[in-house]
Amino acid sequence: MKRIFVIAALCCMAAAVCCGCGSAGPRLVQSADTAMGTVIQQNIYTTAADSKAAEEIRVLLQRLEEQELSRRLDTSEVWAVNASAGEEEGFLLSEELSETLEACLELWRESEGAFDVTIGALVSLWDIDGWAAGEREGAFDLPEEEALQKALESCGSGKLELDGTTLHMPEGMQLDLGAVGKGIALDRILSRLEENDTITGAVISVGGSVLTYGEKPDGSSWRVGITNPADTSANIGILSLEGQWCISTSGDYERYAELDGVRYHHIIDPDTGYPADSGVSGVTILSKSGFLSDALSTACFILGPEKGMSLAAEYGAEALFVTKDGSVVMSEGMEKYYQAAE
Ligand code: FAD
Ligand code: MG
Repeated sequence: MKRIFVIAALCCMAAAVCCGCGSAGPRLVQSADTAMGTVIQQNIYTTAADSKAAEEIRVLLQRLEEQELSRRLDTSEVWAVNASAGEEEGFLLSEELSETLEACLELWRESEGAFDVTIGALVSLWDIDGWAAGEREGAFDLPEEEALQKALESCGSGKLELDGTTLHMPEGMQLDLGAVGKGIALDRILSRLEENDTITGAVISVGGSVLTYGEKPDGSSWRVGITNPADTSANIGILSLEGQWCISTSGDYERYAELDGVRYHHIIDPDTGYPADSGVSGVTILSKSGFLSDALSTACFILGPEKGMSLAAEYGAEALFVTKDGSVVMSEGMEKYYQAAE
């Protein structure tokens, strides 16, 4: 988290920078910003003379957070949905949010409940984001058992009633789209890139989710690093990719607090109410869809390598697991893109 803030501080000072101006062919426009509590890095190859595309993507992400997905901002649809919990008349969702929820519910069923976006009350109770960011006073403490049971009772996608675009949520239930927000962002960015015929290639990262698009002017592959959970300043391996892909990683090193030598991280097992403990430290998913790469990375982290691998396969995605002992286990399809770091 500290790393994010240091990078973020540097990024805020950086406006869009363009490299290779004046040479023939596409130029590289680079920019860095923050949104959704994370760092956004854009590298866009464009034949346009300006850096409007990067600015448009920045605005798109800001709107997605402020108007649609944030559960922290009272300007967003998710905030309004959460405020409606327990109301008899329910909440009339936008098309976009109802489609997202349908897809989340399907994944909840397919993951046998491991992936569950109704865990907002548990996420708030643990507040790992707050601890990891140093926003909470004093030393990290475990939630009280009674509070944990109460929060657990308020969770469960099976208690949601989604009828067309009308949603009924029981009192106390809170949606949290933290597991899919960055992936949804990648899908929106991809549509924007596809509409812009001045863009020939791009690699854009939204925290732990990365989109590759088009090609580099020199024809070389996109190279996306996979963080080594045991040493987050280094990569455990690299994916070499051509064209459009979405790559998301969920890790126990992203946001966590420690107590008595135990790491409590931000990915919660809805069965226990505690941070998931399936023997993995990181999961990377490769998919054409941002939503799926992000959602599956979280789901597979909770399920562990065996069940996670078959869930990813069901969705046509490739999966790579870094286990707690540092071993790397991956699907057969992932092998052709992966190279271990030296
Ligand atoms: P992922 O594995 O992709 O997701 C982990 C997150 O999913 C958890 O943090 C939790 O939110 C949720 N989750 C946990 N367990 C489960 C489960 N079993 N099933 C489904 N979901 C689960 N962070 C800030 O610090 N400040 C902000 O202002 C802020 N604003 C945000 C706004 C938006 C729109 C989004 C999408 C995220 C924001 N975040 C913010 C970050 C957020 O709180 C998460 O920490 C982040 O999304 C985790 O992403 P990840 O890729 O590391 O992990
Ligand atoms: Mg995720």
